[in-house]
Amino acid sequence: MASSKLNRRKFIKTASLSTIGAGMLSAGTLATDNKDTVNAPPSIKEYRKFGKTGFMVSDFSSGAPMNEAVLRALLERGVNLIDTGETYGNGNSERIIGRVLQDFDRSKIFINSKLYTEKEFPSKKEVLERSYRAMERLQTDYIDCIQIHSAENSAILKDEAFHSAMEQLKKESRVKHVGVSCHGNNWAYDTEESLDTILMSAIEDGRFDVILLAYNFANADIAEKVLEECDKKSIATMIMKSNPVHIFNIFESRMSRLEEEGKEADAFLQAYYDKYRLMDEQAKAFFARYGISSDSELKTAASKYVLSNPLAHTTLWDFQNFEEVDNLLGLSGQKLTGRDEVVLRGFQEHLGHTACRIGCNDCEAACPHHMPVNKILRYNYYFSVKRQEKRAMTKYAGLKLQKPLTVCIDCEGYCEQACKYGVWTRPLLAAAKYNLEMI
Ligand code: SF4
Ligand code: SF4
Repeated sequence: MASSKLNRRKFIKTASLSTIGAGMLSAGTLATDNKDTVNAPPSIKEYRKFGKTGFMVSDFSSGAPMNEAVLRALLERGVNLIDTGETYGNGNSERIIGRVLQDFDRSKIFINSKLYTEKEFPSKKEVLERSYRAMERLQTDYIDCIQIHSAENSAILKDEAFHSAMEQLKKESRVKHVGVSCHGNNWAYDTEESLDTILMSAIEDGRFDVILLAYNFANADIAEKVLEECDKKSIATMIMKSNPVHIFNIFESRMSRLEEEGKEADAFLQAYYDKYRLMDEQAKAFFARYGISSDSELKTAASKYVLSNPLAHTTLWDFQNFEEVDNLLGLSGQKLTGRDEVVLRGFQEHLGHTACRIGCNDCEAACPHHMPVNKILRYNYYFSVKRQEKRAMTKYAGLKLQKPLTVCIDCEGYCEQACKYGVWTRPLLAAAKYNLEMI
């Protein structure tokens, strides 16, 4: 633990965006990134102690895989953790893993699967049956960790049916560890808890060995206190949503497409047209100022921000193709450079109002219609960044909004006033509506 703390202090000293003085680094004094000069295909360069699981885990890991060949390439290149769950592709992600696992040493791969429930698990019997079915799909005798999928309040962390089933599965040597994942909450229908309060309860509970959370440079103030607490209790950490940036997708594609097609924006988009244009100008100025030609450099810097934190043990990615395998694994073992710091700080200063912080729900208490702002904007992130259109739209359709989003047009914007990060929620919600309702 001593070395972990030392590394942590070093990370805070060198990487915290909030503590980098404005005059310390500027766009004109950017350091040059190291170039990978190795000709071999990129592979994992760093493994980290994974809490008290006894596992050394690769710094990059596979989010729920949906492509067998891509998963094989990842395992061949040293990735040794695969995240999945029964809901991904109706179990197909687990089936893909099951087929691939037959050709690898099972004992060297950590499988994390998840069980979801909206409120509570109906019975221990049902949890057991669902767990055994997951093992059948995975073609394995045991799962390294089973997690409660996307816990939305701390009450679910105490679910008796889940925990008694896990106790039995551990005794049968069918499950080694128990965990929980969390994106935050939904204050429209639930207790007013956010990602940090829910996960602090999980840490306090003592039964969770592995925690999966949304963490990136934009929500660092929310997520890093959870990581620090996990470190004190030797809890393994898995990170999702490392890249919160979707500036190009929102503004370029949305407004340009409408203009090219000669179409009018709908009333909701039209109401915020001036703000979109302003955001677009700010984005272009930001990219020009920092000499960035695409959002891939931002994505790289965002990845390295998380990789540089030793308390973030492994980072999940939805590798879609071999190009992404090469690009992302090429970053394994890398740390934040001076240029990365400048770029990310610049993003926070100039475009921070475009990024709703995953895991924060603060403004939802201010909304008279209890709009689940964070969830809507997260689903739009799935749509526009992860390109998971169908999944995003299905999730949005299941939200049971009290009022249609169009109420925001005439609203005074209580959510914007309540957001301590200054996020321009209304134009972002309008963009989300455009995507998720397929106007
Ligand atoms: S808009 Fe601001 S206050 Fe609301 S959920 Fe996003 S980050 Fe939190
Ligand atoms: S703009 Fe008004 S109605 Fe819409 S989410 Fe914000 S506070 Fe709620």
